[in-house]
Amino acid sequence: MVEIENKNNAVLNGKYELGRQLGHGTFAKVYHARDLKTGGSVAMKIVGKEKVIRAGMMEQIKREICVMKMVRHPNIVELHEVMASKTKVYFAMELVKGGELFSKIEKGRLREDVARGYFQQLISAVDFCHSRGVYHRDLKPENLLLDEDGNLKVTDFGLSAFTDHVWQDGLLHTTCGTPAYVAPEVIGKKGYDGEKADIWSCGVILFVLLAGFLPFHDENVVAMYRKIYRGDFQCPPWFSSDARRLITKLLDPNPDCRLTISKIIESSWFKKQAPKSAMFQNPDDVISNLKCNETETLNAFHIISLSEGFDLSPLFEEKKREEKQEIKFATTKPATTVVAKIEAVAKAMKFSIKKSVDESSLRLQGNEIGRKGKLAVTADIWSVAPSLLVVEVKKSSGDTLEYKQFCNKELRPALKDIVWTSSGD
Ligand code: AMP
Repeated sequence: MVEIENKNNAVLNGKYELGRQLGHGTFAKVYHARDLKTGGSVAMKIVGKEKVIRAGMMEQIKREICVMKMVRHPNIVELHEVMASKTKVYFAMELVKGGELFSKIEKGRLREDVARGYFQQLISAVDFCHSRGVYHRDLKPENLLLDEDGNLKVTDFGLSAFTDHVWQDGLLHTTCGTPAYVAPEVIGKKGYDGEKADIWSCGVILFVLLAGFLPFHDENVVAMYRKIYRGDFQCPPWFSSDARRLITKLLDPNPDCRLTISKIIESSWFKKQAPKSAMFQNPDDVISNLKCNETETLNAFHIISLSEGFDLSPLFEEKKREEKQEIKFATTKPATTVVAKIEAVAKAMKFSIKKSVDESSLRLQGNEIGRKGKLAVTADIWSVAPSLLVVEVKKSSGDTLEYKQFCNKELRPALKDIVWTSSGD
């Protein structure tokens, strides 16, 4: 990657010609850019690497970025490509031309039916990402853009490490910007559920669309925090009783009592017809930028080459996968089959097994003390598209040679049948 200055007409990575600046956040600058190969326009978001804090969440963020590169939804800004130089990270994204949704609110609050249409699109986008294990964690007006047809596009999904927050010990700390959209448990620094936190932010956004002002506001930030903690807000008199009921359940300070997305969708306020037929389209759940050419369907090789995205080297300056001796493959088999295969190997080897509650992660540990203590291996399984899983196996402790032998003699042969190959069915 050639390091460039952000000058107009500079060419990035021999591929994108940078144009005028479109906007900026606290850490990021966004430029118009032209893909020299296709002639198409993209938005290029540039973030200084020093802003990316190394912390416990990095693995998850990398996984989320990888997923975002694979999915497409009409209300989510598409992430085409992630590149990195020594000092900067570059996100090539779909260019959205209609500006920010909230520039509309500056002119006054929205009609209830218009707000409903945007809210339905927002929930559709959030639900889609949550179903794929990706959380926004920083939903706020700046992240809600409009396309030329007036449809809502949510940006920055899965990029929470690159926003205005600092991660430490896996927890989110708001260091700058407004906490007005942040859920109480996020402020509380107790660690939190990304899904519930996003739903809270959707509640604040809906309130602002309907009211034209924030539900929790105070000149004094401490007083504002206190209001957020207590869920202390008042709906203005023009809110309908259905809207009032819904917002009250979204802005419940107790995340366990907060409405779930399926309940939001069932609510009578949400269900009413949107003003535009374009609203709440079914997500086009296709794998987009992975299509190497238009006629080729996705195959395991693409998945594997895509899995470079997990590495994002040199972004996170990790060791190469070969050095880490990771096994990574895609499968169309259900997670239960993958787990059963791995468990069978572990049992035959008399390894102990620990599984996460949702069975998406397994930890195997050998009984015998090896050259560097007991060998421990973790396997993570995640769904990247309907009926498509990616499995990643790596050594968590013990001797590398013993791990290699375990992989080559036991694990690889056992998993061979479930690896998805391009010629397979
Ligand atoms: P952000 O750092 O994501 O908050 O972006 C800062 C500003 O850049 C936004 O408020 C938009 O005005 C602009 N922007 C961000 N992403 C895009 C995009 N994909 N297309 C067009 N403009 C964008």
